[in-house]
Amino acid sequence: MSEPRTPPRHTDMIQFAQDGGELIVGGLPLSRLAARIGQTPFYAYDRDLLAQRIAELRNTLPAGVQLHYAMKANPMPALVSFMAARVDGLDVASGRELRVALDSGMDPQEISFAGPGKSLAELEQAIASGVLLNIESAREARLLSDISERTGWAARVAVRVNPDFELKSSGMKMGGGPKQFGVDAESVPALLAEIGQLGLQFEGFHLYAGSQNLRAESIVEAQQKSFELCLRLAESAPSAVRSFNLGGGFGIPYFPGEQRLDLAPVADNLARLQQDAASRAPGSRLVIELGRYLVGEAGIYVARVVERKLSRGHVFLVTDGGMHHHLAASGNFGQVIRKNYPVAIGNRMGSSDTENVSVVGPLCTPLDLLADKMDLPRAQEGDLVVVFQSGAYGFTASPRDFLSHPQPLEVLV
Ligand SMILES: *Cc1c(COP(=O)(O)O)cnc(C)c1O
Repeated sequence: MSEPRTPPRHTDMIQFAQDGGELIVGGLPLSRLAARIGQTPFYAYDRDLLAQRIAELRNTLPAGVQLHYAMKANPMPALVSFMAARVDGLDVASGRELRVALDSGMDPQEISFAGPGKSLAELEQAIASGVLLNIESAREARLLSDISERTGWAARVAVRVNPDFELKSSGMKMGGGPKQFGVDAESVPALLAEIGQLGLQFEGFHLYAGSQNLRAESIVEAQQKSFELCLRLAESAPSAVRSFNLGGGFGIPYFPGEQRLDLAPVADNLARLQQDAASRAPGSRLVIELGRYLVGEAGIYVARVVERKLSRGHVFLVTDGGMHHHLAASGNFGQVIRKNYPVAIGNRMGSSDTENVSVVGPLCTPLDLLADKMDLPRAQEGDLVVVFQSGAYGFTASPRDFLSHPQPLEVLV
């Protein structure tokens, strides 16, 4: 007879302390934090954890590699300002994100703007503010030249390249094959010639192969290939390359059995690339842009149990929050197979009196599911359900008006 196999467990969420059964967030027991905020549901982002993550990266990555925060992961203005004081640059993907980035006090010289189909208004905003535009088509280059000619303001540009390879085992692929992102590598030399003729201020290359990767080897391979491709393309550039933005895609563990990303091999590889850059493109610098990895683990989503409902022997904890606030935790944000995010009862941490329950929201749809048949401490009405790993792609990545329930709040603690 074979041993019964233990099912894979969630990686322990040890980034938050506990005391007397309460999760400690921003230095407060969760129940008190909820009272301080004045309502559930809410997202809370922990300053100490954000700072710790940045410090960990600074200690591991070679000095001189520029660390950028990709704002679309979490564009809450207070959080962006907190990050702006600690990272080397911000990456924005819309005119509205650009306004928040400028409000944060980040030097416009260190802000870059990527994304397909930028509007004329966005291109004007970018030129007027002096940020670096990662251009994704010849159309953008021509429009920038028109604006620059009309206003006399310089257009700083980098070319976003759609590489001829894919990032392996990445949650979401954003490069390789036909893509709406960037300029196909084979078309880049002609675009570089045009950039030179148009008189745009060329500064470098940008590649972004994909997101949510937990395997160091595949990140290393993607960064290696991205860098080699950039060096080849640099031969056609109208001026010396000043920055190589090699993307990021660093993942965080969400689901049972997932292991944390091992940063050491990524750091070793970046050190090698930096040496290459120093000899083959003197004066250039390497940039990595991270969203989820910087903020994802520092945030939780909290909803209150409104009703404990028994249906044919199964317990449903019906909460005041759900998929409309946290689409990703419900499994509907690009996931192929639904899996539970790490979930806890934040005011009954460590309780051994557990039961198997489903946590749902108030929406009239079976998609409104925060935890499916999970073992959790036996909860009562009024208890606080916590969804971990919620600092990225939560609040702004959710259909908050769907079914017209009250909005969640966001706090930085
Ligand atoms: C989304 C995005 C990022 C951030 O991705 P994460 O997976 O959150 O790190 C970085 N760069 C670009 C170009 C993006 O589109």
